[in-house]
Amino acid sequence: MKLILASNNKNKVAEFAKILEGTGIEVVPQSEAGCHFEVDETGETFEENAFLKAEAAMRATGLPAVSDDSGLEVDALGGAPGVHSARYTGNPQDTDADRRELLMKNLQGVEHRTARFVSAICCVFPNGDVLRARGTCEGSIATCMRGENGFGYDCMFIPEGGTRTMSEMSMEEKNVISHRGRALREFARVLKEYCHADK
Ligand code: IMP
Repeated sequence: MKLILASNNKNKVAEFAKILEGTGIEVVPQSEAGCHFEVDETGETFEENAFLKAEAAMRATGLPAVSDDSGLEVDALGGAPGVHSARYTGNPQDTDADRRELLMKNLQGVEHRTARFVSAICCVFPNGDVLRARGTCEGSIATCMRGENGFGYDCMFIPEGGTRTMSEMSMEEKNVISHRGRALREFARVLKEYCHADK
């Protein structure tokens, strides 16, 4: 099944394609379907924002669309940056590096550094049907940034049970344990069930 992927984030697009390989789900980035807009992420939860993005892409293309809304919840910061992960500094011109610097600064001297990545997947169909899945990856925030791979907060996040940051892993290694890997494998299962129930 072909789904429009409601994202302009190249790293997310690459991870989606890799994780869904062999499942029979093919994702087409929204830009390739002529959608170049960014949706205002006005929701208060990952689930609300995922729905807003998928619904906008479905309406613009008339095709089933899937999205991921994700972020990093740091316990010592009351769950911040959370749904605001992509806009943590408050300035839309700022880069991932600026947001990482701010997070490091806000955690200076903090010993309890547990955190989790969250991914909420939402798929919206032209008939109004909605499918959802969620995945999390528990871990902690490193005291210094390490590694070259990945994007966003990867170089400061150490998944539980290991010592390497996500940026010190290959994409394949990350996908096995990541929030997005878990959410998308669950989504593939839910979509399969949905397609079979249709027949
Ligand atoms: P959004 O889902 O477009 O609102 O953006 C999520 C933001 O959370 C990204 O811009 C990253 O900063 C961060 N994020 C989400 N998933 C990951 C990940 O797998 N690695 C690193 N950062 C992530």
